[in-house]
Amino acid sequence: MVPESEIVRLARDIQKASRIVALSGAGMSIESGIASFRGPGGLWEKYDPEEYGHINTLRYEPAKAWIMLSDMQREILKAQPNKGHYALAELERMGKLCAIITQNVDGLHHVAGNREVIEFHGHLQSVSCMDCGYRVPSAEVDLEKLPPRCAQCGGPVKPDAVFFGEAIPSEALTRSHREASTCDLMLVIGTSAMVYPAASMADIAHDAGAQVVEINPSPTPLTGRISSYIVKGSSGDVLERVVQQLKDWSA
Ligand code: NAD
Ligand code: ZN
Repeated sequence: MVPESEIVRLARDIQKASRIVALSGAGMSIESGIASFRGPGGLWEKYDPEEYGHINTLRYEPAKAWIMLSDMQREILKAQPNKGHYALAELERMGKLCAIITQNVDGLHHVAGNREVIEFHGHLQSVSCMDCGYRVPSAEVDLEKLPPRCAQCGGPVKPDAVFFGEAIPSEALTRSHREASTCDLMLVIGTSAMVYPAASMADIAHDAGAQVVEINPSPTPLTGRISSYIVKGSSGDVLERVVQQLKDWSA
């Protein structure tokens, strides 16, 4: 359990800040039942995501790529936001949080009610045909018949997420850059900060003069390098308590 003093410290920093941006990762959704890649029960125990999740595997060996994708789709389609997602939505409504740059592909920040969400790695909510571009919601994909095919032309289909070997969509990159370089507090939540260029957003914020604070049970390469401190707890517990503290002060 994170001591009260650390919750108060973070709440004070949030209160002082005028432009807050969050950078979120897979740890944020663990309490929603979605395993991270590297953690226990994560996909890396079963598959090498860089192989199964590579764009060339999807194009040339779609049946193999869809073994991993169908596992992810099943997990994500039934998941619901957790206390941490809802607390970030509340922080946006309070006028404190300007944007979330998320590496997650589960869409849960949107479901929780956040409007300013930059999906740095795209999302798994829909799939598009790699030949003709025809798009359908993921819920319509028959995961019992793999690999799925385009209903229009029979071509191979791809979730609207960024695969290994693909570039980050330029709009997401430009927007993230803008948000990171103009915030005065960046909250780095539930990310191991090892996937680039997503992790570089924390450096951009730091170099532009922002305070960087992490929420993560474990240290990351940012800890002690650019983050001014780390609140070592789960994002659900920490964020809920911080938002409650802010509400108590404003009551
Ligand atoms: P990661 O798996 O590399 O790291 C997860 C981090 O979460 C770790 O640092 C861990 O200490 C921390 N963590 C564990 N439990 C936590 C909790 N309860 N609260 C807060 N933090 C907790 O994840 P990453 O840095 O996001 O990179 C993995 C890549 O995999 C990303 O690019 C992402 O696109 C993708 N991915 C996404 C999902 C998803 O959409 N939910 C799930 C798995 C992987
Ligand atoms: Zn098609």
